Amino acid sequence: LLDALSDLVVIAFERIRLARDVDQAKMLAETEKLRTALLTSISHDLRTPLASILGSITSLRSYSNLYDATTREELLATAQEETERMSRFVNNLLDMTRLDSGALAPRLEACDLHDLVGSALNRTKKLVAQHKISVHIPQDMPMLMLDFMLMEQVLVNLIDNAAKYAAPNTTIEVAAQMHRYALALEVRDQGPGIPEEDVLRIFDPFFRVKQADSKTAGTGLGLAVCRGFIQAMGGRISASNRRDSNGAVFTIEFPSRIVAKTLAPTETAA
Ligand code: ADP
Repeated sequence: LLDALSDLVVIAFERIRLARDVDQAKMLAETEKLRTALLTSISHDLRTPLASILGSITSLRSYSNLYDATTREELLATAQEETERMSRFVNNLLDMTRLDSGALAPRLEACDLHDLVGSALNRTKKLVAQHKISVHIPQDMPMLMLDFMLMEQVLVNLIDNAAKYAAPNTTIEVAAQMHRYALALEVRDQGPGIPEEDVLRIFDPFFRVKQADSKTAGTGLGLAVCRGFIQAMGGRISASNRRDSNGAVFTIEFPSRIVAKTLAPTETAA
């Protein structure tokens, strides 16, 4: 019996070792896939805007006297937009690196959701200039313990996507609701929505939906950053499709313990 048992133990250990090898091989393959995606993305997402900026500046310097004011303004605007795009990409890349290395420690403070959404909308003003924006946040929404900057970045990424994938003149909605156990914050658009088979994968780094208009520039990093930030603050984020119309819904949920403890009236008076 002892011999049989020791055989079993040996087999079990062998299985564990094999499983570990398989896991390690899987992890290595995943890392390798990420590395390739990262390199492709960097070369594409930095080279394209760089070429465009260089083109605009070179034209301006070489032929400035031939251009009228409108053309000069257009060339400058292109250079500015492309620089902003590159800067968004580099920021997302840095955020991903901070998330991966565990160097991201959220600084939770009592935040007013109205301020947060207002600030995110202010930062996306130019991107959503051709869309209608509708915000629904209850007046009595309590203060929430969140990292203002991380939360603002998440909203910026979601609003940026809504504006990118949904046609001009459609409405982007930002809505919040406080339930007994949770806060739910949604960003809804009237775009093409997300194929059901991709609703989980779109949060993976560098994942982009195949059918996505190839002309829509993107890095596939925005949502990965959103997920990392939300999880770091103790919440979760998911994607689904609207039932009432076309379009995607991104839902962020936090447990009700993120409600900031307000001082009791006696403490305030003291
Ligand atoms: P990017 O937009 O830079 O490609 P993201 O990580 O923000 O990267 O999004 C990943 C993919 O998810 C996008 O490429 C797109 O296919 C899909 N996606 C994101 N937001 C939306 C949306 N609001 N509507 C439809 N598809 C979306």
